[in-house]
Amino acid sequence: MLTWLKYFSYGLVFVCAYLLFTPPPHQYSNAELTRLYGLEGKDPTLVTKLLPLPPPRYPHRLAQQSDPLMRKSVKYLTDQEIDMIVFRAAERLHAFWAREFALRGGTYVPVEIIPEWGPSDPRIEGDHGTRFVDGKVYVDRREVREASGTWASADGSLIEAWVAHEIAHYVTHATGVWSAAHKRTVPDPGKYIVIAPKRLPGKPDHPIQVYIEQQAQYLAGVSLREAGMLYEGYPEHIYYLCAASGDDFMRLNANWLTDPPDAEYFKDHADHGYGKDFAKAIYDGMLPSGNVDTGLRLLGTEPSFTH
Ligand SMILES: [Zn+2]
Repeated sequence: MLTWLKYFSYGLVFVCAYLLFTPPPHQYSNAELTRLYGLEGKDPTLVTKLLPLPPPRYPHRLAQQSDPLMRKSVKYLTDQEIDMIVFRAAERLHAFWAREFALRGGTYVPVEIIPEWGPSDPRIEGDHGTRFVDGKVYVDRREVREASGTWASADGSLIEAWVAHEIAHYVTHATGVWSAAHKRTVPDPGKYIVIAPKRLPGKPDHPIQVYIEQQAQYLAGVSLREAGMLYEGYPEHIYYLCAASGDDFMRLNANWLTDPPDAEYFKDHADHGYGKDFAKAIYDGMLPSGNVDTGLRLLGTEPSFTH
């Protein structure tokens, strides 16, 4: 009896220690996710289909984020605060990429980062939104704040993930893998669009664009981890918020998502693809197994660091 009691109390101590020192997994019920994504009132069958499954548990304990600025909702961030988060993130990410390029005999030239004010910014003609275009990264402050409408708990980690994603696009250009991947594509006459989607060999489910986005996500995840920008709960939090950038989420928000024929849409001309795949790509990068060499070769081409 006493032995039984002894082992029972050992077990109890173990369980208490586990609960005290292990952070709770950031998982949500479908009802919570529906609310956080602002999808109440949408067709529940479609909503259930696009909600991402909980990611695997992150295998490492991470430090607590103690910076109150990083915990503030994006909705209430001032322009100055957004810029501070953007440039602080960019500095760490540039330092990471500079190390990676140097390790491979190359020189990383930091990409220019330009915060802007969405369509009202006089410097912008037509296109807006956070993006990498013409060799520069633009961060759209209006879009940053509006992200709280598609992921209610969006905070500074969303801005950092976006900056890491756009810098990763730049890196795929700077190492030549972006243009090399385009050279590998084969045009496929699509059923629904005039311009034939470009397909990468062995990747028939989407046009190349979707895989380019997933590659940027994976590399963003690696860079966030290696630049020391992951804190407790961040991997799961970033995973869930990235799902909201999927074409299926955007189409459902705009009441365009139907089932079928959306499978055809995703096959022929999606940008980010399904939210759950876009989320998984950055999570895979954030995992300890995520690494630069795998990420740069995801589209079947070899990077070059010396041109
Ligand atoms: Zn992108």
